[in-house]
Amino acid sequence: MCLCPQLSDQMVELFDACQQKTSDLERKEACRARLQKDIQSIYAVARLYLTGSSMNGLGCRSSDADLCLVLKGNVSISDSVLLYVEMTQLIRAKVPILKFKEKDSDLEFDLNINNTVGIRNTFLLRSYAYADLRIRPMILVVKKWARHHQINDASKGTLSSYTLVLMVLHYLQTLKEPVLPSLQRDYPDCFYPFMDIDMVPEGPKRVPPYISRNQSPLGELLLGFLKYYATDFRWDKQVISVREAKALPKDNSVTWRNKYISVEEPFERNNVARAVHEKIKFDAIKAEFAQSWRILQDKKDLNSILPVGAIINKEVYLIRGSSY
Ligand code: ATP
Ligand code: MG
Repeated sequence: MCLCPQLSDQMVELFDACQQKTSDLERKEACRARLQKDIQSIYAVARLYLTGSSMNGLGCRSSDADLCLVLKGNVSISDSVLLYVEMTQLIRAKVPILKFKEKDSDLEFDLNINNTVGIRNTFLLRSYAYADLRIRPMILVVKKWARHHQINDASKGTLSSYTLVLMVLHYLQTLKEPVLPSLQRDYPDCFYPFMDIDMVPEGPKRVPPYISRNQSPLGELLLGFLKYYATDFRWDKQVISVREAKALPKDNSVTWRNKYISVEEPFERNNVARAVHEKIKFDAIKAEFAQSWRILQDKKDLNSILPVGAIINKEVYLIRGSSY
């Protein structure tokens, strides 16, 4: 067993430097509130929710702000009127997204309309993030590692941040002595899939921290995570299910058939990793897990797989680059 004190310390250092600060969230929240007020002057019943890493406890200082606009009825994204914003760009994906920046700042927003599953899973992830003190640093380091190795961009056929987060949670749920349970199984009333959307943010408040018998340090968990996906996980036969806290056998349904990576969305149960549809990208992802595991096992130094100082400097630069 390796306790890897240096590696664990480096992970905490990276987390402390990069995690979203209260002031970052306050800026996003202020912009959300102004936009909501503006939109409500046209659609009185509209509600605007901050989602994604800004809200789920897994954000960095430089993370964009994901927004979900909840409107009654069938309204297309181009019908909505947005003031206070500039550089809008419409991404015509399966869930259309309006990208924009707040005027006079570098704060970036991604807005969707009525994709309310994003609100539900944001608050589920938030509960996992705060269930144990190790979860947030662990996920931040994995996201930075994946970004550095260019395997964290769904628009380029690799892993979305959301997929990566579910992969980390799955690993922590399936250890011999789990670090996390299935919160949907243990607290069904807090994560009821058809709960009124206004009530969803209340869910996590009723979930107590999880007391695990597994007290492995962060460095050991990071090594275990890389090893799990480099050598143990059967990509061709298994579906990652955070909902059930286990790997499910891949069936022959359209959702999972011929998919390189299968990660179940905890509420909709579709594949969140469907962006990985090219073999070359899939191979590159697997190669990164294998190579980083080999190197880190040997060096036990986070710098061997991620330039910690440069990542921290970049984060500081991105924040200073904004006008706040
Ligand atoms: P980052 O810090 O890199 O921006 P993020 O946590 O915001 O990471 P994204 O992958 O940008 O993650 O996704 C933003 C949010 O959108 C997620 O937290 C989730 O709520 C929602 N989301 C993303 N992909 C899906 C999906 N396939 N199905 C359902 N919800 C999704
Ligand atoms: Mg985001």
